[in-house]
Amino acid sequence: MSTTMTSRNDTLFDRAQRIIPAGVNSPVRAFRAVGGTPRFIARAEGPHTWDADGKRYIDYMGSWGTAVVGHAHPKVVEAVREAAGRGLSYGAPTEAEIELAELLAKLVPSMALVRLVSSGTEATMTALRLARGFTGRPKIIKFEGCYHGHGDSLLVKAGSGALTFGNPSSAGVPPEIAGHTIVLSFNDTAQLEDAFRKMAGEIAGVIVEPIAGNMNLVEGSAEFLRRMRDLCTQHGAVLIFDEVMTGFRVGLECAQGRYGITPDLTTLGKVIGGGMPVAAFGGRRDIMECVAPLGPVYQAGTLSGNPVAVAAGLATMKIVQEPGFYDLLSLHTEALVEGLTLAAKKCRVPFSAKSVGGMFGLFFRATPPTSFAEVMQCDKDAFNRFFHAALERGVYFAPSAFEAGFVSAAHTEAEIGDTVSVAVQAFGQ
Ligand SMILES: *Cc1c(COP(=O)(O)O)cnc(C)c1O
Repeated sequence: MSTTMTSRNDTLFDRAQRIIPAGVNSPVRAFRAVGGTPRFIARAEGPHTWDADGKRYIDYMGSWGTAVVGHAHPKVVEAVREAAGRGLSYGAPTEAEIELAELLAKLVPSMALVRLVSSGTEATMTALRLARGFTGRPKIIKFEGCYHGHGDSLLVKAGSGALTFGNPSSAGVPPEIAGHTIVLSFNDTAQLEDAFRKMAGEIAGVIVEPIAGNMNLVEGSAEFLRRMRDLCTQHGAVLIFDEVMTGFRVGLECAQGRYGITPDLTTLGKVIGGGMPVAAFGGRRDIMECVAPLGPVYQAGTLSGNPVAVAAGLATMKIVQEPGFYDLLSLHTEALVEGLTLAAKKCRVPFSAKSVGGMFGLFFRATPPTSFAEVMQCDKDAFNRFFHAALERGVYFAPSAFEAGFVSAAHTEAEIGDTVSVAVQAFGQ
């Protein structure tokens, strides 16, 4: 039933657009790719969110992957309350920061030293500066469709929001800066070898999402990532695994553990803050010792290692270390992906899906893509119809065909079953 009554979401969107560009504080939230009114969220708990009109959704956006233990987990909320009571920010070191850094280094052994920051963008931006400072070289290799935050050097043929709006390279990045970013095709080993053959002496580092989650979901092939590791070692370039999304989302050992590849630097974010602004970069001791004040590469942050945010991160990281956490998360995510695939088949919709740990990709094409070009072949209009039909029926997928989806530990068989039932109707739209 459609209604002519103005919803509270509509009213808020009108008001927001008068004071905030496009009414949102991060582009994809504006629903431009899928059309319609963004849902203003009033609260969230477990696998659910509620919008300003009081409508409940099964949430597969999960605050872009941060909500791996589910929304408002009682243990996380309690940790935040306790920390807040002791003061919101000190701008001086705390014991909890050491605890989180030690834990990250224990779980991700490639990180001999770790520094905490407040966003994934800060982490990747600093990792690049560090690669350049360490090697004394200017150029960075990235891959088309990978998103590494909105630092100048990295907003060249980026994925995610940038991709959603069809201008993956941002205005306002001087050509002198963009010119130092070499963009290659994801999973194209020959092209990577060629780039090193031609420019090895100038390449400071290679940054990659080992499992790309910002052009929907495309796994790096083992051969591609292994060769990348070898080439970086051979030519003294810094290999940066951007695990802001995959870190503690695909498993406790992160993507690097799954592949058995040791990067020189790693960036983390999303899950490690449990919904609060915490991110990190870390890696080889000799490289990390270049960071100020030990070394000449500058990086700082008023709110870095914020005690309330770190408390949320630590509480979340405690939960994900419980035995069987990722086994169950993977099982539920696989069940969702299989259910959706069957539903699509029933409706004769060309569709495929896949999952890695607690993240998944939905593709409106017959087989899962293995390259950026194949991602581009997905039927965007079919996705948009599916998205709105699901949303209307109380299932919230990310509002873009290029975003990955996320299951949390709070999603049970009941929510997954309900989602598949909704999908049968939504595919039929
Ligand atoms: C989300 C994301 C970022 C950026 O993190 P922000 O906290 O949004 O700045 C960087 N890299 C990857 C792979 C991401 O998924």
